[in-house]
Amino acid sequence: MQPPARAYIGIGSNLDHPVDQVRRAFAALNAIPASRCVAQSPLYRTAAVGGPPNQPDYLNAVAALETALAPEDLLTALQAIETAQGRVRTVPWGPRTLDLDLLLYDQITRADPELTLPHPWLHQRAFVLYPLHDIAPMLMIPGRGPLTQWLAQCPPLNMARLDSQTHALR
Ligand code: ADP
Ligand code: MG
Repeated sequence: MQPPARAYIGIGSNLDHPVDQVRRAFAALNAIPASRCVAQSPLYRTAAVGGPPNQPDYLNAVAALETALAPEDLLTALQAIETAQGRVRTVPWGPRTLDLDLLLYDQITRADPELTLPHPWLHQRAFVLYPLHDIAPMLMIPGRGPLTQWLAQCPPLNMARLDSQTHALR
């Protein structure tokens, strides 16, 4: 049998009790068939980037999964969780109850618009780089080099880590 793959999932929510949405997402990720959640990052509160003006702040986090699913089957499972948590696609980059992005799947690179790996903006977004670094500080981003190198170029502007117990800002 093949050893499981290691995938990293970016989680974002800015509607309908984001802390609960992110908690439920962690549980749902752990319940994906042939997969288990092996790490959960702290939560970060981040000002919205792009999309319509005056969106509520986002909560962002990253999860690490071990999975026996192929990348495209994992993406399908992620989209099913988004739908189950009430995601409705309206305007691009508009507010959403839950966004699950497949950031990395082992060291696979793929340019398919349906599933681009690594996720195309992963290396430029503080709200992905910081939580990813919390759970995988030594990570290499395939085709782009060490995570730490991108982190150093991406200051954590307009973002704050939440306390893991109370979820208050600190
Ligand atoms: P965004 O996350 O950019 O705000 P969506 O979540 O609506 O937007 O995703 C739009 C499309 O991006 C999806 O239909 C999906 O097929 C595609 N996509 C390409 N690569 C990825 C990836 N690595 N993770 C998640 N979706 C991806
Ligand atoms: Mg998405």
